[in-house]
Amino acid sequence: MRAIVIKKPGEIQLEQVAVPEPPKGFARIRVKAAAICATDLEVIDGRIPARYPVIPGHEWSGTVDAVGDSADAHWVGKDVVGSNDVVCLKCEACRSGNWRYCKSFEEIGFKRDGAYAEYMLAPVYGLYQKPEKLPFEQAALCEPLGVALGTFQKAQARFGDTLMIMGAGSIGLCMLAVGKAMGMRRIVVCASSDRRLALAKKMGAYAVIATEKQNLKEEMRRLHPDGTDLIIDATGAESCIQSCLALAKKGGTVMLAGYGRGKEMSIRMDDIHIPNLHVIGAGNNWNTLKLALNLMEDGMVDLSDFVTERLSLEEYERGIGLVRSRPAGFVKAVFING
Ligand SMILES: [Zn+2]
Ligand SMILES: [Zn+2]
Repeated sequence: MRAIVIKKPGEIQLEQVAVPEPPKGFARIRVKAAAICATDLEVIDGRIPARYPVIPGHEWSGTVDAVGDSADAHWVGKDVVGSNDVVCLKCEACRSGNWRYCKSFEEIGFKRDGAYAEYMLAPVYGLYQKPEKLPFEQAALCEPLGVALGTFQKAQARFGDTLMIMGAGSIGLCMLAVGKAMGMRRIVVCASSDRRLALAKKMGAYAVIATEKQNLKEEMRRLHPDGTDLIIDATGAESCIQSCLALAKKGGTVMLAGYGRGKEMSIRMDDIHIPNLHVIGAGNNWNTLKLALNLMEDGMVDLSDFVTERLSLEEYERGIGLVRSRPAGFVKAVFING
């Protein structure tokens, strides 16, 4: 089969590799759609834990082609999405439901081969049947949507709370979609440039702020005069996180949902201590795929404008280039396998 393989950080190529055989408990998926995520660039560049050589890709949908155990044979032929979390299902973390804390946790697309290929393996316990009317390319986006759902669950977000989102990449825009569906109020989306803010506006943001051109603090004082109840950083950038901490209402919540690439930042402790801020990490999310599919199926979340480029595996360099350069109007590039 054809697969895009990262041999080692910085070295990526399209190769012919063996079609994987599913072991017990796993399904082999014929990949139909696989979205390129900014996190995949971290795997390509060697800035995130991964095991090389690796086939990247963790945002996918497809059709079950084979299973490792005859007891799972009913899955064969079904259109699915699935969890990337390979865990033991036996330890205390797994039994508590928080399986991302499993000591033997390995993620597909990072430590195990992922979806930039014609076929991939995924654990049967994490499969969900794709709603028939949801296109494969949309279903592949249930992974980033699930990240947004997990973030709001951890934030204990409430109907009617004001919301600010820092970052208008696909995760920031998924946060906007979920915030809207939850009935959050006066949702403001901020990004450095206005290249991607048009879509945020179209998706129903109350206001957008391009921080290169506008004064963030002044604008937010005008938009949320009582301060902001919930602020989500979807950038992982220090300057953005500092702004989030400064703009939260007393007793408000700041969610850290962006990957910080191992960087450190300094904060004035009193800026968290005195206003009783809740600062919550949201880098690990699980058990959100089914809800993500349901929300898309019912039209409560509409990501149909997200897929802006459809590619074959041969066009991987162009796809990765788009994710790096993020041209105006670009959101997601998706590999489509016929
Ligand atoms: Zn992703
Ligand atoms: Zn476990």
